[in-house]
Amino acid sequence: MTPAGQDKLRTAAGTLGLTLTDHQVDQCATVYDELVLWNEKVNLTKITGEDEAIVKHFVDSFTPVQILTDEERSQPLRMIDIGTGGGFPAIPLLILFPHWQATLVDSVGKKLNFVRHALETIGIKAEVLHMRAEDLAHQKERRERYDLAIARALADLPVLLELTLPFIKVGGRLIAMKGKAVADEVARASKAIHMLGGGNPVTTSLVLPDDVGERSLISVAKLKATPALYPRQAGTPQAAPLV
Ligand code: SAH
Repeated sequence: MTPAGQDKLRTAAGTLGLTLTDHQVDQCATVYDELVLWNEKVNLTKITGEDEAIVKHFVDSFTPVQILTDEERSQPLRMIDIGTGGGFPAIPLLILFPHWQATLVDSVGKKLNFVRHALETIGIKAEVLHMRAEDLAHQKERRERYDLAIARALADLPVLLELTLPFIKVGGRLIAMKGKAVADEVARASKAIHMLGGGNPVTTSLVLPDDVGERSLISVAKLKATPALYPRQAGTPQAAPLV
């Protein structure tokens, strides 16, 4: 990442109320450089231009700070990023909160080779798992165990809820990262939320710097344990969403 890009990253993060340390800026720059290199071999992202990647990958991944509580920020939170792809939002969030105990999951192993490499290069420890969420969520040591599940661009909300809520302990929450205009999607998800043990969704809208557009953070508290049936077997949540 160029020095101008690093300045841009600091300024853009500032719009979210974040003051990045030199070390955090270095870590983001390293991840960006590695992402561009690896993207020549592995399809990690369509967004590789520096300015665009800074806002759409790094700053966008930071946006949950707008709704995280002081306690969530400061604790060794158990966090799971489902469908992390090239590591977003988990890697930027771990750059902010390296004391979190994170699990990063994706069903595509090649992307995770990058994620492992990137984390190792910047000296952050996290668990990286090549699994489908539908299978992982039925493992006893994974189910109802996380304080925070997070997902960006994973699926339509009713599907996303089935793939993520089973991982969250009662008292924890989901943050789903979406584009603008999510009211219809949230309305269509009310049956799934109810069936899976979620509370009323709270949507926070925000605007990314550089006129890149609006984003929505949908927070769903986990109120009750998810019935053992969910998630249904791999492929079913997508083929027959809970709507
Ligand atoms: N969160 C990343 C990637 C989004 S693309 C980002 O915002 O940049 C969606 C990712 O979810 C893909 O990498 C895909 O492989 C993964 N994915 C889709 N369905 C999944 C499932 N059922 N279990 C695990 N990963 C899944």
